[in-house]
Amino acid sequence: MKSIYMDHSATTPVDPEVFNAMIPYYTDAYGNASSVHFQGRKAARAVEESREKVAALIGARPSEIIFTCGGTEADNQAIITYMINNRSKGNHIITSAIEHHAVLHTCEFLAKHGFELTILPVNSYGEVEPDSLRSALRPNTALVSIMHANNEIGTIEPIQELAGIAHEAGAVFHTDAVQAVGKIPVNVDELGVDLLSASGHKLYGPKGVGCLYVKKGIRIGSFMHGGGHERNLRPGTVNVPGVVGFGKAAELARQRLSTEGAHLANLAKRLTDGILEAIPNTRLTGHPERRLPGSVNVCFDYVEGESILLMLDSYGIMASSGSACTSGALDPSHVLLAIGLSHETAHGSLRLTMGKDNTMEEVDYVLQVLPPIIKNLRVMSPLGQ
Ligand SMILES: *Cc1c(COP(=O)(O)O)cnc(C)c1O
Repeated sequence: MKSIYMDHSATTPVDPEVFNAMIPYYTDAYGNASSVHFQGRKAARAVEESREKVAALIGARPSEIIFTCGGTEADNQAIITYMINNRSKGNHIITSAIEHHAVLHTCEFLAKHGFELTILPVNSYGEVEPDSLRSALRPNTALVSIMHANNEIGTIEPIQELAGIAHEAGAVFHTDAVQAVGKIPVNVDELGVDLLSASGHKLYGPKGVGCLYVKKGIRIGSFMHGGGHERNLRPGTVNVPGVVGFGKAAELARQRLSTEGAHLANLAKRLTDGILEAIPNTRLTGHPERRLPGSVNVCFDYVEGESILLMLDSYGIMASSGSACTSGALDPSHVLLAIGLSHETAHGSLRLTMGKDNTMEEVDYVLQVLPPIIKNLRVMSPLGQ
């Protein structure tokens, strides 16, 4: 059977070059990067080289990168430690309704502990409108956190403009750029962001490693307590092989960014056009142009996303749905509800996120298999049609 992976927004396979770069740090060069002896210095050097590569991918200085155990940790550290270390600047946080739960639940946690929280709505494309941010800012707004690109619908937010508005009001700007870094050009100076989160496993690196960019002069803190690793901001023995893999992945992403982006955009165009042409009562969600290359999210009326996934899986096609059932309860995605879809429509969502190794032939196979699947599910559907 074919095996077609179109769930790259969930995670990506580790690139063979990345894997090869990591191996020596499990075998020969096993030192603790904090040790003073030869093995320790070798590990520390590898960590610093990786820091340079990750910094180069986002236009930062190496000293502004803190390695974490992933995107979730970077989001938590940025938001929680900025707020508790800058109380004199205010206790109001602004975020958006379509954030990843790593941001949304973190902000809600702070709201439960006495901070004020505003959750901005988005328009039907999933964009935070500049005026809505402008009117939500208060004299006590300390932090605005808006994601760079959405993991479900692929919409790219107008970060540069939003960060400018936040700064005019004296607030600091954080962006969860986990989906953007490695897929589209990301430059912290051009965007004007103060804090930025990224993750290794979304760009062909290993799972369990990520980073937080902290602009020089921005005061955050550690939210775990232990040794003095990562300039006293992230205790715990550094995951040297993971960091080396993340560094290699960042280096490759930087080299491949433009050719890969064009390839993904071609695949996504063919897939989107093909689906919308062949299947009636279907809509593309997210912004039609300002979206991640390779990300296709569609909603089919009268069907359940989970049933589509199971059918596709039986043909060897791996995708995901906005109604992902994590807890046993089938909750429609908060992102799809925030862009104004009804519960019924949101339940019929399908996300196909492509990666560098997907081909036109694979897209054509999906276009061959998907229309009859939807047709059959609609015939059986109690939702009508
Ligand atoms: C995957 C993802 C995260 C979480 O990153 P991890 O490294 O898996 O913890 C956070 N934000 C967005 C937008 C993501 O897509």
